[in-house]
Amino acid sequence: MARKMFKMRNTMRRRRALAAGLEAGAEALLVTHPADVRWLSGFTGSSGAVAMAKGKAALLTDGRYTSQAKAEVGGLRVVICKGSPGAFAAEWLAKQGVRRCGFDASVTSVAMLEGWKKALPGKLRRGFFVATSGLVARLREVKDADEIAAMRAAAAMGCALFDGALTMMEPGVPESNVAAGLEFAARMAGAEGMSFETIVASGPRSALPHGRATNAKLPRRGFVTLDFGVVLAGYCSDMTRTIHLGRPNQRKWDVYHSVLEAQQAGVAAVKPGVTCGEVDEAARSVLRKAKLEKWFLHSTGHGVGLEIHEGPRVAAKQVQKLSAGMVITIEPGVYLPGEFGVRIEDTVVVTDSGCEVLTAASPKVWIEL
Ligand code: ZN
Ligand code: ZN
Repeated sequence: MARKMFKMRNTMRRRRALAAGLEAGAEALLVTHPADVRWLSGFTGSSGAVAMAKGKAALLTDGRYTSQAKAEVGGLRVVICKGSPGAFAAEWLAKQGVRRCGFDASVTSVAMLEGWKKALPGKLRRGFFVATSGLVARLREVKDADEIAAMRAAAAMGCALFDGALTMMEPGVPESNVAAGLEFAARMAGAEGMSFETIVASGPRSALPHGRATNAKLPRRGFVTLDFGVVLAGYCSDMTRTIHLGRPNQRKWDVYHSVLEAQQAGVAAVKPGVTCGEVDEAARSVLRKAKLEKWFLHSTGHGVGLEIHEGPRVAAKQVQKLSAGMVITIEPGVYLPGEFGVRIEDTVVVTDSGCEVLTAASPKVWIEL
């Protein structure tokens, strides 16, 4: 019960922040993106809508979720509807006297919008819905204390799982066995699921930035990149470590340590007020000096939370500034096609003076098995 009270206070505060940020043009907002709905209401079902009008708000869901919604949602009216919650939310908003309502164009399909419009009285259809973008997503970038605690726990579980995965990594073992063992251990440890499809990329496949685990066997000599995350209390963890089987040659040793240095420079640059572009540049410039920049094929990092990829984007030239409470990854990598690749990734939370590395329990020093 205390847990629900906490959650209720959090979701009420979030809805107040959203209401304060609503643009003057839109007096109301219809939210259907599941992560946004969860963040605003606590409701974890897959079919739900939050309708916010001046001073009024409701969670709409269908009959399958009646008892779940009652258990999860506090401080918010729950409306059970037949059919699409979005369409019923549109109708509900119109009944509250709303005449212009914002929706998030970045997560709404044309078909969804058409369905919502059909639920409105004919005379309201034209001009009722106003496109907005990322109003809730932007608020979600800054995590509150409960969210950070959840993410700390997810990251700690990830680190423990990595230790276990190390014991499975031997030449001849298929990548998919490592992934399967890791995922089994994650569920046994209480994870709700994985944040994304586990990446186990070994030997020349480590040069694939998104090398999903295949039946390729781990080599006698070569890198293995493991990139994975668990979901705990709805929040995602995300970490990457690259280890080496057998003795490396000088080139592999050097590339690994350049990536490590870039990753540490990225982490060291994180503090409030610094732009995401500056953090990216801190990591990228190390690889530039090592003449490896052209093999760094992606941005330095991304926000993490209820979703594995959310704002802010930690990429070149991004002018968005970091704020305390944001949770981001720092994950530079170097990928030499046909040869090998190295990526090292931590998840960090921005603090008042710098950052706390949530995945610090897994060392980033060279690991040779
Ligand atoms: Zn990752
Ligand atoms: Zn990541």
